[in-house]
Amino acid sequence: MPRLTDRVFADLAIWMSALGVAIGLAFPPFCLVLGLPADRVLSPAFFAATVSAGLVVAGFNFALARLVVGGRLRQLAARMQTVETTLARATATQDWSGCDLGHCELPVDSRDEVGASASAFNRLIETLARSRAIEAATRDFTEVVASHLELDPLAAASLEALLRHTGAAAGAILVVREEALVPLASYGLRDVGRMTDTDRLWRLLRVGRAERIAVPEGGGVIDSLLVDQVPGEILAAPVAFKGIPLGVIVLAAVASFAPDVDLLVEQFRTALGLALNNALAHDRLEHLAAIDPLTEAYNRRFGLARLREEFGRALRTRSPLGVLMLDLDHFKQVNDTYGHLVGDRVLRTVAGACRRVIREGDVLIRYGGEEFLILLPGASCADLAELGERVRRTVADASLTVGEQRIGVTISVGGASYPETDVDSAETLVARADGALYAAKNGGRDRVCLL
Ligand code: GH3
Ligand code: MG
Ligand code: MG
Repeated sequence: MPRLTDRVFADLAIWMSALGVAIGLAFPPFCLVLGLPADRVLSPAFFAATVSAGLVVAGFNFALARLVVGGRLRQLAARMQTVETTLARATATQDWSGCDLGHCELPVDSRDEVGASASAFNRLIETLARSRAIEAATRDFTEVVASHLELDPLAAASLEALLRHTGAAAGAILVVREEALVPLASYGLRDVGRMTDTDRLWRLLRVGRAERIAVPEGGGVIDSLLVDQVPGEILAAPVAFKGIPLGVIVLAAVASFAPDVDLLVEQFRTALGLALNNALAHDRLEHLAAIDPLTEAYNRRFGLARLREEFGRALRTRSPLGVLMLDLDHFKQVNDTYGHLVGDRVLRTVAGACRRVIREGDVLIRYGGEEFLILLPGASCADLAELGERVRRTVADASLTVGEQRIGVTISVGGASYPETDVDSAETLVARADGALYAAKNGGRDRVCLL
């Protein structure tokens, strides 16, 4: 229909009036067909009466259309206005609780254009609510990842947020480390360690795209991925930063994931890529700052900080803290005879031997050139005697060959343990162990002495 004015109801009024006039004009000739006398029917007064009647009917039609259709349209407009006000308020206050479909939905009670308009409006609200939910979830996830710089807490918090937002029942975050996928955080998975050799995840990392994997009937096994509950679907997404693969997110749902989850995970893995890259860089820096590159033992600066921490804890809890001080015997000779590079290899061999003896929680420190300090929380003097002896023997047995020649080194060990050795500072405890080491050297070397 061509537009006559800029108002639909004005157009309707014009069209209806025109129709009323047309019917008024057509009525008299129609009366002739019905056999009414021509002098009565074709008179100006009769024309005036029929045109007036046509216009009156048009007026009634117009009023009715305005009442029925206009009423519904006004209702739609008023509802949209309310929703617009609610959205504007929510944008200002960031409180979106009143903006879901339940609050803003229009009734769809006519199967025509009016109903279609209401349906379209409802779909618009639904889409808006979904995109709001995705935006809110992404913001929450970004905040979570941005508030962690260390690798393990970052992975744990990210996984928790991933599970919460995607409705996954189980999941894991793995990072690429020395050609292997190492689990950093996991929840609900039975055998995370075995998952790391999964070819599928490596393929995913190469392709760089997330993938949904339907789990076959009755089987919770995808390569070596096992989940406590048999999952219905698995979603795996690679995490990268500037195209460099950093790790993989694996999520498992009891049935299947909601359609929006792909979009969510797409946003999340971008945010996680940046955070993971920062955390890995931080981790490398921390490693560089704390680890002696030659022996891979903690360096002196970091080691002494750990020593003070451990001593503080021992003081508070009155629990023992043992320290062993090691020094290679006649090491100058090794350097002089075989050269500095071989000397370096000997130092690495000794550090390796120490690592084989100590347990998790013990700390190996390269204290000086060829002196090592081992912190042994919980170790008494008797424990130190036994451990010191084990370290001494392990070093003596760990030989190194240069060409045909076997290089054997020995160490002297001194030890002291708080509180058996009554000291009031970490430095004094180390000084006591150093004194014991001195005694071991004086006693003929290749032995353990305790204070
Ligand atoms: P002692 O039994 O009395 O301990 O005799 P020693 O020869 O080991 O004497 P000392 O502990 O004084 O010697 C330390 C030597 O360790 C001197 C130095 O050349 C060597 N050294 C220190 N740091 C390094 C290192 O990083 N690499 C190598 N190859 N040698 C080192
Ligand atoms: Mg020395
Ligand atoms: Mg020495």
